[in-house]
Amino acid sequence: MSGVSLTILGATGSVGSQTLDLIARHPGRWRVEALTANSDVDGLAAAARATGARYAAIGDARAYGALKAALAGTGTEVAAGADAVREAGAREAEIVLTAIVGAAGLAPTLAAVARGARLAIANKETLVCAGPVVRAAARASGSVLLPVDSEHNAIFQVFDHAAPQRVRKVVLTASGGPFRQWDRAAMGQASVKDACNHPVWSMGAKISIDSATLMNKGLELIEAEQLFDVGPDRLDVIVHPQSVVHSMVEYVDGSVLAQMGTPDMRIPIAYALAWPERVETPCARLDLAAIGNLSFEAPDLERFPALALAWAALRAGGSAPCILNAANEVAVAAFIAGQVGFLDIADIVAAVLDRLGSAPLEGLEAVLAADSAARRTTEAVVKERAR
Ligand code: NAD
Ligand code: MG
Repeated sequence: MSGVSLTILGATGSVGSQTLDLIARHPGRWRVEALTANSDVDGLAAAARATGARYAAIGDARAYGALKAALAGTGTEVAAGADAVREAGAREAEIVLTAIVGAAGLAPTLAAVARGARLAIANKETLVCAGPVVRAAARASGSVLLPVDSEHNAIFQVFDHAAPQRVRKVVLTASGGPFRQWDRAAMGQASVKDACNHPVWSMGAKISIDSATLMNKGLELIEAEQLFDVGPDRLDVIVHPQSVVHSMVEYVDGSVLAQMGTPDMRIPIAYALAWPERVETPCARLDLAAIGNLSFEAPDLERFPALALAWAALRAGGSAPCILNAANEVAVAAFIAGQVGFLDIADIVAAVLDRLGSAPLEGLEAVLAADSAARRTTEAVVKERAR
């Protein structure tokens, strides 16, 4: 089969399946080299069959037999375990779309960057915990980093990459999440279902909960700093519930360029896959007359302390973003497991940042050490608070 070779890390998730939907609509344009999933054997096997993938890797090593059986009679090579997922990133493919959730995406992402693949990055946690490592590897190999996260994709589209000194400010928009109008008392009682009930986007559980705490926007500030290098003082966040303006760049002359569109992840995914070209998508077209009004408001850092924590971690630099991310992953998992309440998530992250402080962070080994220390500390803090 011809086409541009493409690997999808995290093919069974929300971003992964929307990517599969797009490539099915453009037969011959992309050829799937490798697909990965963590534990969804049926989803991975179906995707591998539908795309004729050459390689399918499942993170859960115990699922090897089941995946092998599900792909019997196909030409797809089957593998299992964390090394097999990493190998998916290392295999020759021109584009690697990273849609694994969490810092688990780091190893396969680095494997792809090391060999100079073009990277379509949805997996923001990798940039938050190890941005400098990923960027250094990309500089060394010539790997191009294309953001899939809708805000960063928007910024990428309107940013003056040749003259970044002309940019005065990069403004990320935030929908405000499901609790935009809730008070703290109500948030304290919020269930996992409430937190995942996003008003605009349908996404995986972890990012949905991050959107409810606004930690997602905090992670995105750090992600923006890694991708556009403008410094914390030139970054800002504004709440925009309709999610039509996906982000904005203000220039020194006062001009503000925004990228807009209906809230459908297939638009930024298509941009990153087709870049520097553009392809058709089936997405609803923006009908501003039907929408009528676009509204904006300042974020409330008191009701949403996670955003303030991320701002502080961004300014502190060093290991702080890595600790913030790891603590948040563990705290969100504890919330999903019913061990702690919704408001505990930000409290736990704050406690871990307090305990560990920020230290200089250089190189992959240091990142991995900071990440695992933060996870251990967070597990201890969760135990102390578990209800
Ligand atoms: P998801 O939970 O729907 O899917 C996650 C994928 O990662 C699945 O394929 C899963 O099998 C795989 N995975 C999970 N843990 C793994 C592990 N330990 N090892 C290997 N694979 C593992 O998540 P999602 O909503 O698609 O989000 C994926 C990433 O994209 C996240 O970083 C998220 O922040 C980012 N993102 C998502 C959206 C969205 O609309 N869903 C938008 C912007 C950014
Ligand atoms: Mg986003």
